[in-house]
Amino acid sequence: MWNLHEDLQRRRADGLYRTRRVGDGPQGPELVVDGRRMLAFCSNDYLGLAADPRLGEAMRRGVARYGVGAGAAHLISGHSRAHHALEEELAEFAGRERALLFSTGYMANLGVIGALTDRRDTVFEDRLNHASLIDGGLLTRAQMRRYAHADVKALREQLAEARGRRLIVTDGVFSMDGDVAPLVELAAGAADHDAWLMVDDAHGIGVLGARGRGSIDAAGLEPDQVQVLMGTLGKALGTAGAFVAGASDLIETLIQHARPYVYTTAMPPAVAEATRVALRIASDEEWRRERVLGHVQRFRAGALRIGLTLGASTTPIQPILLGDSTTANRWGDALARDGILVGAIRPPTVPEGTARLRVTFSAAHTAAHVDTLLSVLAEIAAGQGA
Ligand SMILES: *Cc1c(COP(=O)(O)O)cnc(C)c1O
Repeated sequence: MWNLHEDLQRRRADGLYRTRRVGDGPQGPELVVDGRRMLAFCSNDYLGLAADPRLGEAMRRGVARYGVGAGAAHLISGHSRAHHALEEELAEFAGRERALLFSTGYMANLGVIGALTDRRDTVFEDRLNHASLIDGGLLTRAQMRRYAHADVKALREQLAEARGRRLIVTDGVFSMDGDVAPLVELAAGAADHDAWLMVDDAHGIGVLGARGRGSIDAAGLEPDQVQVLMGTLGKALGTAGAFVAGASDLIETLIQHARPYVYTTAMPPAVAEATRVALRIASDEEWRRERVLGHVQRFRAGALRIGLTLGASTTPIQPILLGDSTTANRWGDALARDGILVGAIRPPTVPEGTARLRVTFSAAHTAAHVDTLLSVLAEIAAGQGA
């Protein structure tokens, strides 16, 4: 029978209840949430572009030219010159024939996996893939097989047993752990088994590789070794939406068959205009990558001195592993009392027993911000046992 209230109560008792804070003012290291100013280490605004005035100016120009709403899906009348130009610029950025915009990364992942596979095929997914990739695998009619995190040997065994077309799907940078997928080994496994490799580079685009081209570039792979690249625009690029880049036939296939592309309203053209500027800044302003990665080094050195357990990550996503949900909540609450906002990530978002604080850094942070975080963490560790 229906008893939502009881289900919610149980969730609360288990330390899994999710709540929202109400923010005010622009994105940045200091956020006003629930009316209180806090120092935040939880956004995906890695390059500090979400509140950049140049993006705001581009968006205003876009509104002046196109109005606010796209009015319809891309295949009806919603595909503007702004969208089209952004797609061409993303294709060039990614070194691929074409790119296709989606309204969100979640939808892009559902769209690609659904469009490329049917009931005769097999989709292979890393166990720690983002929820949208897992949901894409659940929604398609293909069989989904999950391999242990980054375990290419296990994947190769699964590939050898499979029939039909094989699609390997992985995060480029894992969203809750910050580690980079073994892309060179995955690409070799794909080539050996005539499989395709799809990389979701939501956290790599703008941050890793030459000019921020992402984890595929950082791994030294050629574009044709990774047939499908998905990237999001709402993280390092500071706006909203996503893209898929690849060969022309891939993009045409998505336009024909990706239901979350066909049956949804196009993103506002002004968002595309702002993203064009973001892409230029992300490619050109190398200091932003140097700065955010410098914060990562400073944080890791300090956190290890305190005795915290960190993940094997060199990216701006830095988990502090704490174990159970209650401990993660307690640390999150203690940080919040001292004015620091960090996400406490609990199951089912991460595996049981690996609840954590997910600390993320931005080029908009200063070294002093990082030091403030470290000193508060040191106090909590001393008080509660790390
Ligand atoms: C954030 C994220 C997505 C979803 O992108 P949205 O544009 O926010 O819907 C997909 N994959 C990964 C790995 C992500 O981190």
